[in-house]
Amino acid sequence: MASTWPVSLEDIRAAARRIAGRVRVTAMAQSVSLSEIAGVPVHLKLEHHQTTGSFKLRGATNAVLSLSPAERARGIVAASTGNHGRALAYAAEAEGAVATICMSRLVPENKVSEIRRLGADVRIVGRSQDEAQQEVDRLVREVGLVMVPPFDHPAVVAGQGTLGLEIIGALQQVSTVLVPLSGGGLAAGVAAAIKGVNPKTKVIGLTMERGAAMKASLDAGRPVQVEELPSLADSLGGGIGLDNHVTFAMCRDLLDDVILLSEAEIAAGMRHAYALEREIVEGAAAVGIAALLAGKVRANGPVVAILSGRNVDMEQHRRVINGEMLFAEDGR
Ligand SMILES: *Cc1c(COP(=O)(O)O)cnc(C)c1O
Repeated sequence: MASTWPVSLEDIRAAARRIAGRVRVTAMAQSVSLSEIAGVPVHLKLEHHQTTGSFKLRGATNAVLSLSPAERARGIVAASTGNHGRALAYAAEAEGAVATICMSRLVPENKVSEIRRLGADVRIVGRSQDEAQQEVDRLVREVGLVMVPPFDHPAVVAGQGTLGLEIIGALQQVSTVLVPLSGGGLAAGVAAAIKGVNPKTKVIGLTMERGAAMKASLDAGRPVQVEELPSLADSLGGGIGLDNHVTFAMCRDLLDDVILLSEAEIAAGMRHAYALEREIVEGAAAVGIAALLAGKVRANGPVVAILSGRNVDMEQHRRVINGEMLFAEDGR
């Protein structure tokens, strides 16, 4: 396959060498119950056991290690209250650099203190994510900090792609890989890795029905904005950027399909993960299991579902498990 994309198989192999020893090689486990339901072997990639609780550490670590010593010394910045913020805080601290994470005044105190605890310099500005991002842009422009975005960056995509290399390293024969999809950094990297080695393997993106920006953009043939709605898969929210440089084209060219999941299906995925696999996962990480349970995946060989993260509020998780919560609520 010609590598006309900003991230090649060789870039991903280089990322794997760079981040080796700094991120965990996570386990794969065959699921008896899901294999029975799907009629083909189903393996779970247990990436929610990654340090900081999500795969985002791979891309963040590769991006930090790809900076020159001078850039690293200037400091790193991003606007993220979620898994990217946690990962970047940890990755910077591990290399002796400072990450400044900008967030709005509306971000709950527990999220602020978690990111601070991981070593970041937290800067509280404005009343929205947009205003936090404006502060990031200002710090880049006026202070010279280096921005590491959550998905639309070649080093981030290459880092996420190392997860794809681990999957094919652990399991020679894979027919279909199920990848949670938001901005597309994970899907682009995993698809480039897997199809770079075996072009016949199908890579399918999974996302929620409510406010899926990449799905709407792929349908429109260009990056578009969608209204953001609350979802149990909150890590899959947010836009892909109207000036997207990397992930839109890669997802368009490399993904075989995108499957949408309802809130009730995502809740069922989280319950199945807990009750039968004994795994605590966040909504975004349950979409692969959800699609298998809903009969939305057609495969004639081994399937791998990536469990991408576990950073869920435990009270929310309890309510989902008890069947008290099937939909995300406004103003949670
Ligand atoms: C960020 C994230 C995703 C989506 O990754 P993208 O690269 O934005 O597509 C999926 N699951 C979890 C847990 C995440 O944190």
